[in-house]
Amino acid sequence: MTSIKNENKVTNLKHFIGGEMVDGTSERFGDVFNPSTGEVIAHVPLATKEEVDETVAQAQVAFPAWGKTSVGRRVEIIHRFRSLLLEEMDQLAEMIGRECGKTLSDAKGEITRGIESVDFAINAPQMLKGEHSVNVGGNINAYSMKQPLGVVAAISPFNFPVMVPLAMTSMAVACGNAVVLKPSERVPNSALFISELWKKAGLPAGVWSVVNGDKEAVDALLTNPTVTAISFVGSTKVAEYISHEGTRNNKRVAAFGGGKNNMIIMPDADIDHAVTAFLGAAFGAASQRCMAISAAIPVGEKTAEQFTAKLKSRVEELKVGSYDDEQADFGPVITQQSKDTVLKYIEESLEEGAQLFVDGRNPAICETEKGFYVGPTVLDHVTTDMKIFKDEVFGPARIVVRVNSLDEAIALTNDHELGNGVTIFTNSGAAARKFTEEIEVGMVGVNVPIPIPVGYHNFGGWKRSKFGEGHMFGPDTVRFFTKTKTVSERWPEPSSVEEKTDFAFPSNK
Ligand code: NAD
Repeated sequence: MTSIKNENKVTNLKHFIGGEMVDGTSERFGDVFNPSTGEVIAHVPLATKEEVDETVAQAQVAFPAWGKTSVGRRVEIIHRFRSLLLEEMDQLAEMIGRECGKTLSDAKGEITRGIESVDFAINAPQMLKGEHSVNVGGNINAYSMKQPLGVVAAISPFNFPVMVPLAMTSMAVACGNAVVLKPSERVPNSALFISELWKKAGLPAGVWSVVNGDKEAVDALLTNPTVTAISFVGSTKVAEYISHEGTRNNKRVAAFGGGKNNMIIMPDADIDHAVTAFLGAAFGAASQRCMAISAAIPVGEKTAEQFTAKLKSRVEELKVGSYDDEQADFGPVITQQSKDTVLKYIEESLEEGAQLFVDGRNPAICETEKGFYVGPTVLDHVTTDMKIFKDEVFGPARIVVRVNSLDEAIALTNDHELGNGVTIFTNSGAAARKFTEEIEVGMVGVNVPIPIPVGYHNFGGWKRSKFGEGHMFGPDTVRFFTKTKTVSERWPEPSSVEEKTDFAFPSNK
């Protein structure tokens, strides 16, 4: 297994095609950073259309035998893959931390949640069972079967280098498809590492491939006629593009976009509980989660005063640090550009009239380290017309929006173009019931900091947080990665074969 701990030199990475690590031929490379130090740690090859087409061609060769392999045998390999993920947890967490910046404990949490999707894929024999009816008429039996689609593609973001690829692909592999993953060019090591685990688990060559690249590689997947389905996770703008281009090219598409997730705090809520929940959900992973809480929405002035009074010192105590600093609550953001964007949002919101409640723009660590650090920042008295309320901000600048009623909190959430996650903190069953019924958001929490469903429930936002049909995780993944065939069959006794042709539409007479 590739070790990364002692690699201080800059490495040239590869693709994983046809079961082997292969060099890129494009002569185009991207820089991979260690966000905690600001240093370049690797160069990732950026594939050409020809390289993508070759990857897909090799996947197509592998598909028929894999699709016909019994589901029990496929699941045996997935079992072994799961054990290897657990065995390699520490090294994989180190790799995630080093290229993505999240703390090691957060990285391990991500891997554990990713393994949930692998666990769910182990249920494929149960999930792939079709339907059967005996004697629907004239001694005809009808049954349906779910068959794999063929070659399917997954395109993933930087912020979950392991969990999202596993969530997108485990069931696809279990259903008998050949998968081509195009990971984020900012975190390619983790995807290549997973490839080695698949190989070690015994997955046949070509069933799982990783082609590294940028827009050129994505466009090649979108236009390759052999690719039948595309599962995408990333920003809303790109998700919408993938959805339009994928469907225009007759592919099945599920494209998951960004989130802007509110935490509503009712006057009857346990304020200490709400503050503790807000800290982790808002600042964990340097707020670079599609399900991160962006805004605290206290209902009523008294609630706002109580909440902010308790929040201030707790935010000031948070520590931003290197991914391997055990004392750090969260790490850097992914790039210098990302840091600049977050700082710009803070500046603009101040110009628009927001109040700087906790200022994390110059954390102490920046005096000695060149990593992409932004300290925990909270802006109070933010209003819905401000850019920092409207846009997804992928960094630790969080906001407080004060409202007067639950209706107002629901309305401002429903009016937002994104609808990934939302949560309410309350002790009132009536308020929770009204909220869960009326809110226009795909994943809803009640007294839960981040309402991300477990691996066997469907995951997906509403509005511009998801394009296309289908979900990640859960039973919808099986539907997304299979096609249903319905068979009507009769095995008549030779003596009962009808001699007269019937031209009427067949019905159960
Ligand atoms: P991104 O959209 O920049 O990149 C995602 C993928 O798309 C990458 O593989 C990238 O190479 C590719 N890509 C980027 N620009 C492209 C273009 N113009 N044309 C074609 N392909 C392109 O997203 P990111 O910055 O890597 O990830 C963060 C975003 O992902 C956030 O918006 C976050 O909310 C979202 N996200 C959503 C979910 C979800 O489940 N809804 C989960 C994780 C992350």
